[in-house]
Amino acid sequence: MHSIVLRGEPRPVRVGKILCLARNYVAHAEELGNEVPAEPVLFSKPASSIVGSRGNVVIPTCSQDCHHEVELAVLIGTVGKNVTSRRAMELVRGYAVAIDMTLRDIQAQLKSKGYPWDLAKGFDTSCPLSEFVPAVAIHDPHQLKLGLEVNAVVRQSGNTECMIHRIPDILAFVSRVFTLEPGDIILTGTPAGVGRVVPGDHIRAWIEGVGTLEVQVQ
Ligand code: MG
Repeated sequence: MHSIVLRGEPRPVRVGKILCLARNYVAHAEELGNEVPAEPVLFSKPASSIVGSRGNVVIPTCSQDCHHEVELAVLIGTVGKNVTSRRAMELVRGYAVAIDMTLRDIQAQLKSKGYPWDLAKGFDTSCPLSEFVPAVAIHDPHQLKLGLEVNAVVRQSGNTECMIHRIPDILAFVSRVFTLEPGDIILTGTPAGVGRVVPGDHIRAWIEGVGTLEVQVQ
């Protein structure tokens, strides 16, 4: 069983599915030479990919180009199917800092063949997550500065106001196809500045008002 910690909740919360958005910030889509999609582009990570703060990210031996992507994570607390954007935020129970660790070389190989990205995105330790804070603690999830540094050098610095698809629309879109359930997590995409990490690197990611997340790369 894989679980996360929600501040103020005495028991760990069991994690269901982890759905992730690709290309949800224009500047990041452009830095990888990708078109900006009209509809959300989704992929998923297994719950077994989660690692907590102060944990280790272990780069699989098949990759020489593992990238960091800081993202706002959304925790679902209520079942939802075919929710409207107007009601979607009622499903949200909390927020956390996430890093979508990505094997960019493997992903490029898979993309070139039109294959799914699972190997590049879902490996063990590919989903570092901070403690979640209750949704009520965040006044506006679309007005949060977020950033990431590697060995104390800033690599990513952005603001969630630059999301292309906003959280209510993401949840409405996703819930047309997937029933959202308590313990599900949505990663909302990364701003520009993604880059390579190597064994020995220390990553620190942060989101204003949400928290910080530190991992060591092995
Ligand atoms: Mg990402």
